[in-house]
Amino acid sequence: MRQKLPLLWEAAHQFASLQIRNTATIGGNVCRASPSGETLAPLLVLEASAVVRFSRGEKKLPFTELFLGPGKTLLGAKGLLREIEVPLPSKESRGTYLKHAVRGAMDIAMVGVAVLVTPDAGGKKTRDVRIGLGAVAPTPIRAKRAERALRGKAMARALVDEAARIAASESSPISDQRSGAEHRRWIVEALTRRGLEQSWKAATGKEVDG
Ligand SMILES: Cc1cc2nc3c(=O)[nH]c(=O)nc-3n(C[C@H](O)[C@H](O)[C@H](O)COP(=O)(O)OP(=O)(O)OC[C@H]3O[C@@H](n4cnc5c(N)ncnc54)[C@H](O)[C@@H]3O)c2cc1C
Repeated sequence: MRQKLPLLWEAAHQFASLQIRNTATIGGNVCRASPSGETLAPLLVLEASAVVRFSRGEKKLPFTELFLGPGKTLLGAKGLLREIEVPLPSKESRGTYLKHAVRGAMDIAMVGVAVLVTPDAGGKKTRDVRIGLGAVAPTPIRAKRAERALRGKAMARALVDEAARIAASESSPISDQRSGAEHRRWIVEALTRRGLEQSWKAATGKEVDG
């Protein structure tokens, strides 16, 4: 997992305590469908699909369609998650999962951001950018407008800042005992910016320009 899907590996390492990590399953994390579930934003960004068995047969459901709301998935009461298919990202791509929580891994995420960046052949522009947000909407989401703003462009500071602001505007967080909605939006912006910077540097060896 660490070699082939390091983004998922990274998220799993920020997941609760050793005891929980050793008993919890990725299937349970997905089917629980908590908006803050640690593996969900990475799986969205990796464009994974769930193979689900129903009484009438099997269906392959993309993760982008799987989640309906907190605790609700297309599996309903009768679907059984049998398999999770994750296409291997291109060799050039690099990703980051950043979790914000008061007590680190031992706490449920206030915000989770997964970023996957693929540079072009010259390492100057992006070929693909994917951003997944957790705990800031009724389901984990892709920040599609922010992704579009970055795709095919040079990773300049002003653009990264703008994309991070767009990602925050795509979130619709609630206020609860962990954090206020405005604070969560601000953290989405900060973590998206950081995730883009770290992933770009890991993919190209270069800092974001400017
Ligand atoms: C102390 C503590 C800390 C935690 N910290 C975190 C954290 O940091 N991050 C995080 O994301 N979660 C956290 N959790 C939540 C939980 O442990 C995880 O979501 C875990 O992945 C659940 O996996 P499980 O195998 O125990 O699922 P279960 O609890 O057994 O199942 C969860 C739900 O999914 C259903 N289900 C399970 N497998 C399938 C299947 N194959 N097909 C259909 N339905 C299925 C079950 O019926 C149940 O409704 C924490 C929990 C505790 C107790």
